[in-house]
Amino acid sequence: MKGKTLEHRARRQLSQSGLADTLYRATQRAVDKRNATIEDHAEWERRRDHARQIKLHTLCRIDELLAQFIERAQANGFVVHAALDAEEARRIALRICRDHGVTRVIKGKSMVSEEIALNPALEAAGIEVTESDLGELIVQLLGQAPAHITAPAIHLAVEEILTLFRERLAYELPSELRFEGAAIPPRQRSAIARDLTLAARRFLQRRFLRAQLGFSGANFLIADSGRLVLLENEANIRLSTTLPRVHVAIAGFDKLIPSHDDLATFLHLLPTSSTGQRLTSYVSEIGDGDGRHIILLDNGRSQLLADAEHYDLLSCIRCGACSNVCPIFRNIGGHGYGGVYSGPIGAALLPHLGGIDAYGDLPFASSLCGACSSICPVGIPIHERLLEWRERAQRARGTSGEKLIARAFAWLIERPAWFAAAATTYPLAQSFSRLLPVLRRWSSERDLPEMPRQTFLEWIADEGRETQRREEER
Ligand code: SF4
Repeated sequence: MKGKTLEHRARRQLSQSGLADTLYRATQRAVDKRNATIEDHAEWERRRDHARQIKLHTLCRIDELLAQFIERAQANGFVVHAALDAEEARRIALRICRDHGVTRVIKGKSMVSEEIALNPALEAAGIEVTESDLGELIVQLLGQAPAHITAPAIHLAVEEILTLFRERLAYELPSELRFEGAAIPPRQRSAIARDLTLAARRFLQRRFLRAQLGFSGANFLIADSGRLVLLENEANIRLSTTLPRVHVAIAGFDKLIPSHDDLATFLHLLPTSSTGQRLTSYVSEIGDGDGRHIILLDNGRSQLLADAEHYDLLSCIRCGACSNVCPIFRNIGGHGYGGVYSGPIGAALLPHLGGIDAYGDLPFASSLCGACSSICPVGIPIHERLLEWRERAQRARGTSGEKLIARAFAWLIERPAWFAAAATTYPLAQSFSRLLPVLRRWSSERDLPEMPRQTFLEWIADEGRETQRREEER
């Protein structure tokens, strides 16, 4: 849902019946599991601090570590490409496909490939693309973008996936799972979800066998060994990177970590924050390049790195936990943000990566409650970054109506006589706030408080008199 304003998208999302309930249930489940996993983990906060230090230290030494990674990866047999922007990354990916005569590719889950709009470019070149992550496959079949950084189909109920698979994969429910009506009976939900997963697996097995090239992202790029590390639960990434004859990994340079010793911290923090697992089911560390390609993407990251206030946004490990606790995300879902990255990190990151003109309203999609910052495993103060974006937007707009009102109010409260006189007009302001079109919208969702019977000074004077009377009576 691109091209519209945040407000337009949010209203569209909020009007979708059942969406907020589905999102709330799924995100709360992930948060509950994460909280239970870290409950008995005395080291959690220490690990979080450690992870933040590693990431910030990496960003401060990025030139040196990037050069080291490239040198070691090439020595391992990888072919390393650098892409300044999305267009260049797509061009490189297409060239590799052409060089290898590829017409069918399979993809492991990769947000960076979404960022560079890889699928449309491949399809426009006549290449068949199959997403192999279950959630990604579902949104691909629907023609949608992922609705969450780690859970692309989080916004969908099992009933919707059942309908989709019937239409697109010719799926038929086994007779023992058939039911009456539109809603799946609660006692059959997990059995049907399992059978749908098996149907997707059968479909994907055929696609894996015919794919000539596999695309993947990378969770970590290890500088001192020149290796890629990928985390997943479905083994589809492992297959995508080993079964086809060509493998291409695409990753932003922000995925660098200095050494193998740093990896353990993240192997623990990422899955726990994401799904509440202590470890992901599969951790693949690819050290043997054997002609594999790595496309290292900048796409606005260098510019962000030079931003002294916001560069720590590059330490995000894409766990999605900030979305899970965000009251805005829980109501409008990922599609409400209108960009590849959603939730609080998307709101802070997209204006940098996609431009303030396109995404300038996203920092306003926050209650600034700070839940995102509290849960972030690398300690990014996300809500502060959003607040800074708002200040930047305000500065760019110049003196606003709100600022003028605040200045006038500051002038007024420094002059008690004027303030007292202005206070008598308050009831009038209450009526006007509902009449003037410019204020009607503001006041339609806010109530101005009732005018108190006394001013504060009158109340103090009354209280003083009452205290004095009581003392005289004693
Ligand atoms: S900002 Fe933090 S919580 Fe959000 S996705 Fe990134 S690492 Fe996870």
